[in-house]
Formats: sequence, structure tokens, C-alpha cells
Amino acid sequence: MGTVVVSVDAELSNHRQPSEREKRRARYGWRRLLELFETHDVPATWAVVGRLFTDTTEMDDRAPGSWFTAEATATFDDPARVVAERNRLSRSLSGRSLIEALLDSDPDHDVGCHSYSHPRFSNITRAQADAELTAAAAAMGEWGLEPRSFVYPFNAVDHRDVLADRGYLCYRETLGPGAGQERPTPDRPPYHPLELAPESVKWWAGWALDRVSEAYDAVVSEEPPALVEPEIQDTGLVAIPASLPQLYRMPLPARQAVRRMRGCPVERIVKLGIDAAIENDGIFHVWFHPGDFEVEGDFQSFESILEYVAERREDGDLRTATMVDVAERTLNF
Ligand SMILES: [Zn+2]
Repeated sequence: MGTVVVSVDAELSNHRQPSEREKRRARYGWRRLLELFETHDVPATWAVVGRLFTDTTEMDDRAPGSWFTAEATATFDDPARVVAERNRLSRSLSGRSLIEALLDSDPDHDVGCHSYSHPRFSNITRAQADAELTAAAAAMGEWGLEPRSFVYPFNAVDHRDVLADRGYLCYRETLGPGAGQERPTPDRPPYHPLELAPESVKWWAGWALDRVSEAYDAVVSEEPPALVEPEIQDTGLVAIPASLPQLYRMPLPARQAVRRMRGCPVERIVKLGIDAAIENDGIFHVWFHPGDFEVEGDFQSFESILEYVAERREDGDLRTATMVDVAERTLNF
């Protein structure tokens, strides 16, 4: 039987100062994803940034009726419907209300940790890493939660012994050197304000080549993405690699162009991965951020992925699991 794992990097943005638009998109995506997971009864690992557990800031809703109308829906396919949905979903918009929505949700989600303030762990000291986990544990403890799964900010895996000391069971590993990382530069400050901005022509050239090959895969390749093998590390932690870099990261214009040509590229690749997991009794693991969903078509494609998962599960070919489920299974073998 195949296994599919979904992990969500539950944050509003990995920039230090996200724009209002980014935050709104992430808040909306968060609630919309919860609804989709609930409709299809698919549990996921939600690795939440610790500070959201204490955030009581309400977003400005001075114009309730036209709250999202202008800029925030400009890229959505059906603005009227999206505005209505957003108004419905945006009753309360503090970090705490997002956590409440997550905890009230029916599927048995695994609420994990994504650090407290999202630093790059490869650029902080062991003491800082420990302080991050202490702060996250305190914030989550107020909600009666004890996280057992961890996703590194920027996928920068480091200080694993600190995680192990803190009682974590598992963390998400990258597939290979650099896979899934935004950029592999260990000597940068942990809170670079332009975390995603270019550093050099060389980096851009590499990035462009990656996108071209991604676009090629999306349009013509029939090659399924990698299945993953959890591994028990010397720290005792279970490393659970991801099968793909973040879904929905192909730039929107390219994504839309491919979608028009032969359907949603993300949906196609993920379904190939699910089929491969079923065929090989393997594990297929995907991840993304709530704010990655830019147009209504992105949500629709994710919904059809979940429909496919639910169908194959119904057939008895596939199970859905969280990172903690996979770690427990690995440790009990
Ligand atoms: Zn993150």
C-alpha cells in the first residue's frame, strides 16, 4: 500500500516584513486548505511558526463588505466568488484565530513546529536554536500542544541534537543536497530582510535553469517524482525527506501558461507521485505554504489532488499519514 504525506509550512510569510497582501493571501489560504482537508478527510502535518500561537493582532477590516475586493483578488480567476469566500473566511484574522481553526478542524492533523521566529538554523548558534525551541514550546504549551514533528525554516537542517533533546520524533529532510532549499548559502545572516532576493548573476542563472527544467518536467516529462525513505538518524530522530520542492512555486505566469496547455502542472506531477507510491508501496511526501496558492485554479487543482487521494484510499491502495505517523511506523519496525 502506498502512503501520501502532506506537510504545510504554516506561516504567513518567510520575509521578515511581509506585505499586507502576502499576509492576507496566507490567511485565506490557511482557512481554505483546512476546509479542503476536512472535505476529503485528509490529515496533514502543520508545522506552525511559534509566534502565531501568541499573535492577537486582528487585521484591519475597516470596509467589511469590500475587504478583499481590489488588489488582493486581482489574480484570482473568479473575483466575485473569491471575495464572497474571503469575507466568509475572514471573520477573525489574528494568528490565534488561525490556530483555533486548525485545532477545530476534523481531520487528525499533526500540529508540529516550524521554529518560533523563522530564523535560518544553519546560521544560528546552538544556544539560539535551543531558545527558538523553548519559545515555541512555551507558546504551544499554552494550547496544550507538544510538537513532535519539526520543519526547518528555509529547509536549512542544522542543530538536530537540540531537536532530539527536546523530544521531537522527526523532521523534514530535503531530498538531496540543496533540494527544496531556496538557496544554499550558509554564511548569510539568519534574518536577511531580502531572504529571497538575488545575490549574484550566477545564482540567477542557476535559478533560471532550474525553472526551465521544472517547466520541462511540468509540460512533457512522464517521469514520476521521487518516493522517499524515512531514516533513523544517530540522534534518534527520524528524517523524512520531501519528494519535491514546494508545490506551486513555478512562477504564476508559467503555471498559468502550462495549465492552459495541458492542465495544472502541479496536479499532474503529484498524481504521478501518488501512482508511483501505490505501485511501489512507497511514501510520497509533498509540502507547501498556505500563501503559495495564488489563484483560484491553484485551490481547485489541490482539491482534485485530494479527491484523487480519497478515491485511491477508498480503493484500499493508499493510506494518508502525517509525519508523526510515518516516524512512529519507522521506529516501531
Ligand atoms: Zn517557513
